Amino acid sequence: MTRRRLAAGNWKMNGTGANLSELDALAKAHPTPGCDILICPPATLISRASAATPAQISIGGQDCHQNETGAHTGDISAQMLVDAGASYVILGHSERREDYEESDTDVRNKVMAALSAGLKTIVCVGESLSEREANNTLDIIGGQMAGSIPDVVTGDSLVVAYEPIWAIGTGKVPTLDQIGEVHDFIRSRLERRFGAGVGRSTRILYGGSVKPTNAADIFAVSNVDGALVGGASLSVADFSPIIAAL
Ligand code: PEP
Repeated sequence: MTRRRLAAGNWKMNGTGANLSELDALAKAHPTPGCDILICPPATLISRASAATPAQISIGGQDCHQNETGAHTGDISAQMLVDAGASYVILGHSERREDYEESDTDVRNKVMAALSAGLKTIVCVGESLSEREANNTLDIIGGQMAGSIPDVVTGDSLVVAYEPIWAIGTGKVPTLDQIGEVHDFIRSRLERRFGAGVGRSTRILYGGSVKPTNAADIFAVSNVDGALVGGASLSVADFSPIIAAL
């Protein structure tokens, strides 16, 4: 099964209109990319980014609400993301699980809302350092997958991102064996739950301190189908070589 690889950039709470020139430069650097490219800017930039960016770069949100409309001050629905030009949304990022106490059930409800709106979803899972040190990594990942991923996904609409919390923004990266162990586990859980079709076509990204210097080694690991990149996605100089390594 050939899975088209995905380089996804998460700008988090960084970027104003001035940063849109980075997207332009990125598109010029990759006119016919050999992988899918996605940028998830802050919500304030989605509309302008999607209008200004050539089609080889998709634009996504970093979160959405589980409801379509309603009295939820400050929140954004999946339909609003689509309306603004997004085609993907990141859900269950560890920063949202921590900052907003999002549970697996919250994430699952958001995934269902996003799928109903026609978005592709990147569902993040990952262990803390203490969970890894207690040898609980696979149990944690399995539990997050069971709780956060609804039954209704397809291989096209679901992307799973393995992001060890202790590797995000820290410069620390698991060993290649550790990454491979978790990605193989995620693949086997997907196949067991959803069957070979969805199980083998779902892309699994690695995220956590991916840089131009480590990207090629990480992308050579079994069942790594791309990366979810935070800090290094903010500049073309860093993100472009990561894309080129895919
Ligand atoms: C992330 O926030 O999803 C992430 C992987 O960040 P960084 O690449 O900066 O570690």
